[in-house]
Amino acid sequence: MRILSLLLLSLLPLLLFAQERKKVDSTLTVSFEDYDPPSSLIVPEHIMTSASIPFVDVHSHHWRMGTQDLDKLISEMDELNMRVVVNLSGRGGEALKGMMDNINKKGYQDRIVCFTNINIRSIDDPDYLEATLAQLRYDKSIGARGLKIYKSQGMSNTDNAGNRIKINDPRLAPIFELAGEFNWPVLIHYADPKQFWQPHDTNNERWLELKLKPNRKQENERVSWETIAEETYDLFKKHPNTNFIAAHMAWYGNDLVYLGKFLDDNPNVNVEIGAVIAELGRQPRAANRFFEKYQDRVLFGKDSYNPDEYATYFRVLESDDEYFPYYKRYHAFWKMYGLDLPEPILEKLYWKNAVRLIAGLEADMWE
Ligand SMILES: [Zn+2]
Repeated sequence: MRILSLLLLSLLPLLLFAQERKKVDSTLTVSFEDYDPPSSLIVPEHIMTSASIPFVDVHSHHWRMGTQDLDKLISEMDELNMRVVVNLSGRGGEALKGMMDNINKKGYQDRIVCFTNINIRSIDDPDYLEATLAQLRYDKSIGARGLKIYKSQGMSNTDNAGNRIKINDPRLAPIFELAGEFNWPVLIHYADPKQFWQPHDTNNERWLELKLKPNRKQENERVSWETIAEETYDLFKKHPNTNFIAAHMAWYGNDLVYLGKFLDDNPNVNVEIGAVIAELGRQPRAANRFFEKYQDRVLFGKDSYNPDEYATYFRVLESDDEYFPYYKRYHAFWKMYGLDLPEPILEKLYWKNAVRLIAGLEADMWE
């Protein structure tokens, strides 16, 4: 009790400060967007163009894999030390078949994994479930190794009556059960950064992003962040025999204590770090504590495939560099610090957790 009141006392000035803080509009003579001076700090720098350990990227998108030049992709992967890429945009059916044919023809089955996708929008079709389950069986037979659910599928897809289709709609349940039977992980991107639902003002940490990408604003949309999250948590609970990978650290990269409790509460859920590396880079000590405790539950993912951007991920995870920038200021206007993760934790993040979750990846590929 005494500790609690001490804690509250120490928080008091912070609370008062938060209340007194004024919204400032355009009284500055230098704009926030213009003010980005080069740092004068001289400290050691480690620019890392490849990972120290061969890794699996579990969150990548290659929509034209049926026709693209896979030799080029593999040589870029080799330069990054990326052992395996997981293409989440397999699309299913004949599109996936075209991709698998291209991969097999080149003999890259060990380097490229495809997850498939489903159409949720046609949920009212009389043969919807039967046709979707048949598609998944076919996709598995030609080599799909997981299912990816897009954010639109639980946020904006509507049924024939115009109602938003919830991702935990009972009519979809057999799909997630079948994924569990297949031992397929379901990688699910739900919601988006919470700031997209908050007022676009000077208290919003994603102010610049919402200015540059106004279509990301959710403030006036009818579904709240919390509703989407609750529906997805319900999905996790209803399918305890299906492994899920919540994309983007479930948007709790800025609250790792909460994320830890969430993982404790959902043993069938794992997370990946795509597009939220700047959250980890701004809290290297807290992030280290999180990785120490949850090292079996976090996978490496990047999302948008741009080879030049991986260097920032390696630097945050592996170096002990200080005060360096993220590559998109609209994601992070702050500077970052390397986590200097110990090798056993890096191994789990880079590949061991992926090998545990994705059938067909074998530990001996790392020997
Ligand atoms: Zn993605």
